[in-house]
Amino acid sequence: MMPSPSPLTLHERIVAIRKTLPPSIRLIAVSKFIPVEMMRQAYAAGVRDFGESRVQEAIPKMADLKDFQDITWHFIGHLQSNKAKLAIEHFDWIHSVDSLSLAEQLNRLVVSVQESPKLCLQVKIVPDPNKFGWSASDLRLALPTLQTCSNLQWRGLMTLLPTGLTEHQALDVFRQTQQLAMELTTATQGLLSLSELSMGMSNDYPLAVQAGATMVRLGRCLFGDRPQP
Ligand SMILES: *Cc1c(COP(=O)(O)O)cnc(C)c1O
Repeated sequence: MMPSPSPLTLHERIVAIRKTLPPSIRLIAVSKFIPVEMMRQAYAAGVRDFGESRVQEAIPKMADLKDFQDITWHFIGHLQSNKAKLAIEHFDWIHSVDSLSLAEQLNRLVVSVQESPKLCLQVKIVPDPNKFGWSASDLRLALPTLQTCSNLQWRGLMTLLPTGLTEHQALDVFRQTQQLAMELTTATQGLLSLSELSMGMSNDYPLAVQAGATMVRLGRCLFGDRPQP
């Protein structure tokens, strides 16, 4: 009998997926609910960017992994106002700035904390009442106020696809996100320089890459299914 092929190890999966991505793309390993031991293995396989969606889960992991000083930490979940200060203190990037009140709060806090993470605005091109994020029109309306948040380092847009799209529709949403980033950068004469596109998850990242993603956020395709919270 032919031996069945052995399943890939975490290390092999990371290396294989990394190889399919253009080298300029930042691979963010989404480690929510993933134990630190697996994160160490991911680090050994070359991962230097980790994404977490809950501040209170991430902080102890950061403490555990503090020997790895070259990790870049990305916050990708909905940020509650009572966690904003902790998020600024601990994360290098916040991908999920989804309201004007959060932007204004961050703009005040970065001064007192003296840390200013890089920020993305979370957009939803397709209306979805169950998701956080700006519609394109709300974001256009908010531009003047966002520009007054002069302590903030805007870097790009982040998006999450709604479920149930065809490949064609998914690609279209990613392309619209890319176009919106260009439009807003031009409209603000570069004051909001949105050159980063945080888009693409396990199910859809090849399409996101095709549409110009600069960062992909991959969980299950690296770590396997997450333990249920
Ligand atoms: C969980 C999560 C991901 C990763 O999703 P996978 O399907 O596991 O790749 C990416 N982005 C955000 C915002 C998430 O919450």
